Amino acid sequence: MLVVGCILLAVYLAINVNKVIHSSKHQNDAQTEKVLLIDPGHGGRDGGASASDGTVEKNINLAISLPLADMLRIFGYPVGMTRVNDRMVCDSELVPLRQQKISDMKNRLKKYNSSRLTISIHQNHFSQSQYHGTQIFYGKQNEESRLLAASIRQIVLDKLQPQNTRELKKATKDIYLLSNATTPAIIIECGFLSNSTELSKLKDEEYQQNMACAIACGVLAYNP
Ligand SMILES: [Zn+2]
Repeated sequence: MLVVGCILLAVYLAINVNKVIHSSKHQNDAQTEKVLLIDPGHGGRDGGASASDGTVEKNINLAISLPLADMLRIFGYPVGMTRVNDRMVCDSELVPLRQQKISDMKNRLKKYNSSRLTISIHQNHFSQSQYHGTQIFYGKQNEESRLLAASIRQIVLDKLQPQNTRELKKATKDIYLLSNATTPAIIIECGFLSNSTELSKLKDEEYQQNMACAIACGVLAYNP
């Protein structure tokens, strides 16, 4: 299943052999090192944004996050995930959705702050349909967040979206997880569910894997 997405990866590896050899050190240190945390946004009762055809953000977030985690493991990084299936990350005894969402955010933040770095995967939505393209937000508390975001942005643009002119964005206070994370953390809004062309791509398994691959290559190029 990962074969298609890994074609890009193979090309990238072929021209970055030294970095890959260097990163293999992570294999030996996997037990002691903090994980790279992949955070598929939303889940369970919290679907996130939804498209006009009923596509729900949480499912696309997971569909990109799972191959991304696999690819980073192939590189030898210790990888953690906030969720690997369709659920919230809240304490199980809570019932009202609002309480679940608060608990979900707090639990995710704990995981962020005990990880080496976090990449949170989301999808965008806007009232006007013409907007498209990946947008990456970085937490301002840690300079590494911006550097990691810049590395990933470069490869996403090179490999998938040469027309994309979106600059990195520093997270404002209303992005709770990024403004409260003390470790490096970024949010990747992979694309807009409100743009029909981009929605078709985001629903396509091959594109999802190519997006995961571009993000993984960006992590590798940054070499945390
Ligand atoms: Zn979202």
